Amino acid sequence: MTEPKIWLSSPHMGGSELNYINEAFDSNWIGPFGQNIKEFEHDLEEYLSAAIFVTALSSATAAIHLGLILLNVRPSDVVICQSLTFAASVNPILYQGATPVFIDSEPETWNLCPIALENAIVDTIHKGQIPKAIITVHLYGAPYKIDEIRTIADKYNIPILEDSAEALGSSYKGRKCGTFGDVSVFSFNGNKIITTSGGGAIITSSHQLKKKVQFLASQAKDEAPHYQHSELGYNYQMSNICAGIGRGQMKVLDKHIALRRAMHDFYVSLFKNISGITVFSTPNQDYFSNYWLTSILVDPTETKNGIDKETIRLTLLDANIECRPLWKPMHLQPLYENYPYYGEKISESLFENGLSLPSGSNLTDSEKERIQTCFLKLLS
Ligand SMILES: *Cc1c(COP(=O)(O)O)cnc(C)c1O
Repeated sequence: MTEPKIWLSSPHMGGSELNYINEAFDSNWIGPFGQNIKEFEHDLEEYLSAAIFVTALSSATAAIHLGLILLNVRPSDVVICQSLTFAASVNPILYQGATPVFIDSEPETWNLCPIALENAIVDTIHKGQIPKAIITVHLYGAPYKIDEIRTIADKYNIPILEDSAEALGSSYKGRKCGTFGDVSVFSFNGNKIITTSGGGAIITSSHQLKKKVQFLASQAKDEAPHYQHSELGYNYQMSNICAGIGRGQMKVLDKHIALRRAMHDFYVSLFKNISGITVFSTPNQDYFSNYWLTSILVDPTETKNGIDKETIRLTLLDANIECRPLWKPMHLQPLYENYPYYGEKISESLFENGLSLPSGSNLTDSEKERIQTCFLKLLS
């Protein structure tokens, strides 16, 4: 008999979500307006404690798309993006008809390599274009090299669109991720650190930009008694029902981060005496990761019997334990392989040897024991 599935990262309700949904039902605000949206946005603004404005949207993908529009990205433009990421970081570049340029990772944070980034900028300028934006990513919750990347962006006067989809609650030098971009985004998809079942948010620096986002996300209706449109609009608003889930989730966010970090500790101690496995951890005290997903690198020249990533993946799968290879770099994807790429082969080797492990804040002791037993049987 197979045991129940252990998920990589599944929704974890805090208990108060249904109260807010009931409030929406009681007041009949069943749509993309209402108190839950206002309060959820307010809760996020307080949590980030910076002079920023949050607008809840239907997804992080929508938020990145609107972010590119705010940064005025158009069909002839070049946008730079980290290669090792989820396709949703990049696809909105194509929605705008612009051209992505991909950058390798560096090994310390697995994020944007500053050297490859500057090479790409210089080369693109040589070819006659200044890149219109840089999309940065905090992969698996680990902040990228914030200071180095900001210095380069400012040197060439290129705005940063910070994809913080995986990094709500992470911080760098005490400042929260989601406040480092000229525009930033979060995701509340079902697998993220907190969820609204599906949803996202965009973070902007002014009330005026927030107004612009609300205008574009609700079909760009001009002020008129009839429906009048002079700009291209989108239907990207969050529902007041989903925002109710978000309000409840905000109450348990810090608790869930502590539990995800405890999962990371669990893997660090599990693999302490197993050769050939490295648990990905942030480089120093400046970096605080929510450890949305804990990931490992497998070195088959060091593991027992030369066991590699794929053998581990299949063994876990067999035990009904979900795990997943790291994001496949975008410059290796059939959709994107013909676009420019700058860097060495760091992201390729991470993809080759990396695996994300069950990391949810809701994993039970007996589930952890199953994971531990499975690894010890295979590798010790
Ligand atoms: C999940 C994710 C997204 C997309 O978020 P959605 O809310 O599902 O659209 C974008 N970027 C990264 C890095 C993600 O992990």
